[in-house]
Amino acid sequence: MSNQVRTGSLGYPRIGEQREWKKALETFWAGKTDEKALLSEMETLLLGQLRRQQAKGLDFIPLNDFTYYDHMLDTAVMFGIVPERYGHPGGKVSLDTYFAMARGSAGAVASEMTKWFNTNYHYIVPEIGESKPYLAENKPLAAYRFAKEQAGIEGRPVVVGLYTFLRLSKGFASSRLAEKAEQFLPVYVQLLQELKQEGVQWVQIDEPALVQDTSLEQLRLVQHIYAELRRQVPDLRILLQTYFEAVDHFEQVAALPVAAIGLDFVHDGGKHLEQLERHGWPQDKVLAAGIIDGRNVWRSDLDAKLELIGRLSAYVPADRLILQPSSSLLHVPVTVDREDKLKPEIKDALAFADQKLDELALLARAVREGRDAVASELAAARDALTRFRSLPERNRTDVAERLAGIAQVGDTRSLPFAERFKVQQEKWKLPLLPTTTIGSFPQTMEVRQARQQWRKGSLDDAAYEAFVNQEIESCIRLQEEIGLDVLVHGEFERTDMVEFFGEKLAGFFFTANGWVQSYGSRCVKPPVIYADVAFVEPMTVKESAYAQSLSSRPVKGMLTGPVTILNWSFVRDDLSREQVSSQIALALRQEVEALEGAGIEMIQVDEPAVREGLPLKGSDHEHYLNWAVRSFRIATASVRATTQIHTHMCYCEFHDMIDSITAMDADVISIETSRSHGELIASFELQGYDHGIGLGVYDIHSPRVPDVREMEDMIDRALKALDPRLFWINPDCGLKTRGWPETEKSLRHMVEAALAARERLQPAQVNS
Ligand code: GLN
Ligand code: ZN
Repeated sequence: MSNQVRTGSLGYPRIGEQREWKKALETFWAGKTDEKALLSEMETLLLGQLRRQQAKGLDFIPLNDFTYYDHMLDTAVMFGIVPERYGHPGGKVSLDTYFAMARGSAGAVASEMTKWFNTNYHYIVPEIGESKPYLAENKPLAAYRFAKEQAGIEGRPVVVGLYTFLRLSKGFASSRLAEKAEQFLPVYVQLLQELKQEGVQWVQIDEPALVQDTSLEQLRLVQHIYAELRRQVPDLRILLQTYFEAVDHFEQVAALPVAAIGLDFVHDGGKHLEQLERHGWPQDKVLAAGIIDGRNVWRSDLDAKLELIGRLSAYVPADRLILQPSSSLLHVPVTVDREDKLKPEIKDALAFADQKLDELALLARAVREGRDAVASELAAARDALTRFRSLPERNRTDVAERLAGIAQVGDTRSLPFAERFKVQQEKWKLPLLPTTTIGSFPQTMEVRQARQQWRKGSLDDAAYEAFVNQEIESCIRLQEEIGLDVLVHGEFERTDMVEFFGEKLAGFFFTANGWVQSYGSRCVKPPVIYADVAFVEPMTVKESAYAQSLSSRPVKGMLTGPVTILNWSFVRDDLSREQVSSQIALALRQEVEALEGAGIEMIQVDEPAVREGLPLKGSDHEHYLNWAVRSFRIATASVRATTQIHTHMCYCEFHDMIDSITAMDADVISIETSRSHGELIASFELQGYDHGIGLGVYDIHSPRVPDVREMEDMIDRALKALDPRLFWINPDCGLKTRGWPETEKSLRHMVEAALAARERLQPAQVNS
């Protein structure tokens, strides 16, 4: 049997080792460079990225994964899908129009952006509407030529598959999916034919939508699409690539008329191997096996990977096997090389994009030349993992004991909501339709500079604390003066709502350069949960207690919830996400108790990321929601009945989640709604909601100051569906990205709108 296994990759981080990509874009947008300079910087960057991958000895280097903003936007623009408001005259789409679609322009709002499956990457949603697709520009062809001419690379162009492209687009009824596919098919055919004529051997067509719930009708459409492509471009080799989960119809997908199928063997819950063992693998087909985790930062257990390869080769001979990362490496940082501040046990346990490609190369050598040939490399990798795994902070008996007893940890408040409501009304004596905010107030340059100076050591602890206290005090005074009923301290001491807690809880570390793209040029550096998470000392009590000491009105304590901390971090992979979430919940429970003990009796625990953690398959939702809700309840349930627990969620589609939200049993929830008010109200009309609730009455994403009337309308509409005794009035989300002038004006209007609404409901009381 041949042992000539091959290696491939599905996409490389675009942002550059030092975020050069981001900087190039942002200087261009700021008007400091021209288009020519941008294009040339981008070429240099791309070439560097290609050479790095080439140096790793990959057999299949992905091309056309590079972009100036987002690969879905690229695909739309490539097919001439440009909404009318951008005034595109036809033909190739200009760079200005491209960026206008991404970011908005003076005359036209940007296209909507949404999460790419269950990752923290966001793509621009194509607005297909009635536009007729045409091949405006063959981007993969250009990428192929560039790599070949500039670096001598015979690469594998990547294209978003037609089915996935349409599933992720909007502007047409889902019943028209097949009709739309017919319209696009000739354009896809043309694209592939041009590649074929150029001499392209392999094309990677990404169809991650196949891991979502797929109806038989949708499956038939996919079969039709690939049969047509096979018929019309017969001898181009297509790798149909899926990732992020197991495909929904294994046998049928494996039988599609393409040369190779790419499957994720890391995030599939073991299902692909089971299916392979049950159904075998078609004789004529290449299996591209995603065996290295493309979404997490850890070094692989290579012995386990070799064992997996061994099991795969029982069904697929090595010369029909391609070893790959489980997904594009877009979701991990570029390289571990610069992480010198980490202790060696941690640094050696990490693998970012470059290290993952090294792992692939090593595995391929082990298959081709035998394990003995790479014994010392394998041993070194094994040692590194052993050292990491035995770190004491990953093996805390106190945390393990608490986790073992988690089933006994109470997650039920001492009274049910209806009774808590009464005692809380008694205690707090808030007016009808109380006003509040979501937590953060503007993070001015001054605030950020003070924090930086403190981090660098040029501002000492006492001076920084005094600075933060000053900010808190003026924020409290302003809120009182505006007439808000429930105040916040303003979150001036926090850069980011997850990082802040990650720095104070045990179990986290932060990289120096571990950036990943979130959307466009925006990059995030997620905290890494590498060890047991535990409470160390109070994290928020000082600022909250100080704020409360300044006012006779209630000041909400402000925490980030367990599920959000989990979903916005890289997480250790030896425990389940549920277990890690429980550890965080137990730690936050201690913080909640510390706040209550310090006299903070309204506590908000933000969970904006609950919705986005939903698994890709509907059948997994219930399990996830159960433990997510339980984590929140563990964190918040131990307080007195009179203590009021708030939570906040950013925009999400609630209709399918209201039960879970109710089950969280927060006394008050605030939700971002102003951009989709009607829809949300409609779902409340249908299902009702019987806890305290504040629907955001104005959009905080724009500096526009809404007038009083607009907000009153929002309130009146909401009150048609919701009980006024339970209704709160607040902005959509935190105000930290806003400036002071618009914040102040908007809040004054909000309070005015609340007073007017109160008056309409209870004319006598308001004036008494
Ligand atoms: N309390 C946070 C803030 O106000 C909530 C932010 C969020 O939901 N993303 O900034
Ligand atoms: Zn929010």
